[in-house]
This record gives sequence, structure tokens and C-alpha cells, in this order.
Amino acid sequence: MFRCIRCGEPLPSDSNLFGVRCDNCGAKIFSKEHPNVKKTLKAR
Ligand SMILES: [Zn+2]
Repeated sequence: MFRCIRCGEPLPSDSNLFGVRCDNCGAKIFSKEHPNVKKTLKAR
């Protein structure tokens, strides 16, 4: 999933990033976002 770096608006997951603009602010820069970013620490 991608997210606009300016306003944080998420893009649809299968959108092609070529020529895509953020609907909210018009920015063209997006960052990848991992849905499961939870870090689990295993004590061993
Ligand atoms: Zn935006």
C-alpha cells in the first residue's frame, strides 16, 4: 500500500504509480506502507 507523503492520504492498493496524483493534495510522491509493521520482539 502506498501513502502520500505530504498529507498521508492512502492510495488504492493496486493503483499504478505512473501518473497518479494524490486526490487530496495533488502530490506525486508516495511512500510504501507495510500493513503489518508491528514489531514483535521475541525474548529468548
Ligand atoms: Zn496528498
